[in-house]
Amino acid sequence: MIIVKSPDEIDIMRRCGRILVAVLNKLRIEVKPGITTRELDSIAIHEMEARGGEPSFKNYQGFPANICVSVNDEIVHGIPGERVLQDGDIVSLDAGVKLNGFHTDAAITVSVGKVSQKAKELISVTEGSLQAGIAQANCGAYLGDISAAIQGYVESKGFSIVREYTGHGVGRELHEDPQIPNFVVGKGTLLRKGMTLAIEPMVNAGGWQTKLAANRWAVLTADGSLSAHFEHTIAITDNKAEILA
Ligand code: MG
Repeated sequence: MIIVKSPDEIDIMRRCGRILVAVLNKLRIEVKPGITTRELDSIAIHEMEARGGEPSFKNYQGFPANICVSVNDEIVHGIPGERVLQDGDIVSLDAGVKLNGFHTDAAITVSVGKVSQKAKELISVTEGSLQAGIAQANCGAYLGDISAAIQGYVESKGFSIVREYTGHGVGRELHEDPQIPNFVVGKGTLLRKGMTLAIEPMVNAGGWQTKLAANRWAVLTADGSLSAHFEHTIAITDNKAEILA
């Protein structure tokens, strides 16, 4: 069931989203060769708590960290640890914040030092596909319009869109209905004012197929190619979508 939020609820999510944006902005600055993924996790929890937020991901289905940090061929759900970021890596930072009973969820992919032209292009196309999807997220349009815009954008640039993992509704729960595939599966749900959605294209430089890492959390590209991930939490309004985080 899709839960439509009231203006007051969206206002809480707006404040929650500001915390999350501040966390990701801080992490973006701190990413550099030599830092460990665990250090990024520590910075994230410090920033969240300093602003009165809680980490949505901690213990979610048993997830053992505060944020997801996924490097190179890791698509999503990387567990922060001892891994040291190297010049030329790309790193996806996915975080969720809970405030006053509501969640927001967002992700960015960042270059570590100097990266390849291919990696730069992958990051730029993934972010562009998220913008293309959000441009369709209007009252009266359908969920499938978002999916089609994302898939069309990514494939026109020669990259592939992950199919096994999708965006989702977000708000009282971290994951609510509806699922938001980043590829076309049909017309989908009619978008109505007050829906709050986490749209999150995951884009691979090679094929779209994925595999699970030995730790059963991190999702990897099946062919070892690079992957990037961008996510915003948005609210459907009378006009164009409002980005909450
Ligand atoms: Mg998400």
